[in-house]
Amino acid sequence: MNTSALSSQDKILPFEKLLHHNHERLVYHHDAETGLKVIVAIHNTTLGPALGGARMWNYASEAEALNDVLRLSRGMTYKSSLAGLDLGGGKAVLMGDPQKLKNEAYLRKYGQFIESLQGLYITAPDVNTNISDMVHIAKETKYVVGLPATHDGSDDPSVLTAYGTYMSIKALAKHLTGNDSLAGKKIGIQGIGKVGRALVGFLAKEESEMYVTDIVLDRTSAIAKLPKVHIITDADAFYDLDMDIYVPCALGLTINDDTIARLKCHGIAGAANNQLADEQKHGAMLVKKGILYAPDFLVSAGGVINVHTEYYGGYNKALAYQQVEHIYATCLEILRIATATNRPSQEVAMQLAEERILAIKNARLG
Ligand code: NAD
Repeated sequence: MNTSALSSQDKILPFEKLLHHNHERLVYHHDAETGLKVIVAIHNTTLGPALGGARMWNYASEAEALNDVLRLSRGMTYKSSLAGLDLGGGKAVLMGDPQKLKNEAYLRKYGQFIESLQGLYITAPDVNTNISDMVHIAKETKYVVGLPATHDGSDDPSVLTAYGTYMSIKALAKHLTGNDSLAGKKIGIQGIGKVGRALVGFLAKEESEMYVTDIVLDRTSAIAKLPKVHIITDADAFYDLDMDIYVPCALGLTINDDTIARLKCHGIAGAANNQLADEQKHGAMLVKKGILYAPDFLVSAGGVINVHTEYYGGYNKALAYQQVEHIYATCLEILRIATATNRPSQEVAMQLAEERILAIKNARLG
């Protein structure tokens, strides 16, 4: 959503890009009465219905919204495939100011639109939409997950997302040092929101040295008294820190020309979506600089893993934790291949995700 960091790929005309990344479907819906303006992008449904969150954002332009939904929906295909889920990739962007537009009528209209897609796309919470909003949406459609526990839903996914991030950081440490203990490791966490805060809890148990930053100072001051937590008040100076692992848990596009030149870490593993401003260019730059990168769509898969059992037969917390733990082994395998072949780990992860999709497709045809 920070357009100044858009990559050359993001500047390709929208419909060229749709073809370029093999999206299956793009749907726009407008309701004048409620002010609803939504784009749903369905990237790939080979493995199952396209599941992805509904992001509400006051985009500067429709082109910006379109870029966001195309890239995020594609990321969901890779995320679910690598996590071994029977789900395809999709995403919705709701264009407009949540403070002004979001109310019950707006959300129910959105639910009616989702119902009209007849299960091709399943919606869920994302930036500026939450589990309570899903309750309104569920009054109009069965194709919604991420409901509160009071409604037999999976509740807030952030803890599971943080747990998957923690698993990825441990895998990164194991690959880098041969030992996955994070005791005394300098971990830089950018963004102490829902995921970042839960992650601090996991890392505190390991006695890691945590360097934390957030543009909202209340978020960091709330954890200032925890042992081994060091607050970095200048959010930009954070990139110049001497740290072992950088953990992006704020917004996307933070790995770019400027930050790669400044980062001194050995590895990166964070939950933010679309961290590489330009997938190809910045993936290669990280390899050249010797910074090991755990692909964002693998690291943050805890959220989708958490909601998916809700769709397939009812929420199962124990199964969700078990599946999130598997991120550790997948991450190690991707890092192993990437190091052995001197390729960007993002590229390796995409290849593995695509291979699974193709194998399932061929098995069905066979
Ligand atoms: P959140 O909105 O609760 O927290 C994000 C935090 O980042 C906020 O506290 C915000 O103030 C801070 N921030 C924004 N810009 C910053 C900057 N430049 N420097 C430092 N801090 C900054 O979001 P969240 O739910 O914790 O999610 C974090 C990231 O992980 C997002 O990119 C989200 O899309 C992604 N993600 C989250 C989940 C989930 O389950 N919550 C699942 C998958 C992916």
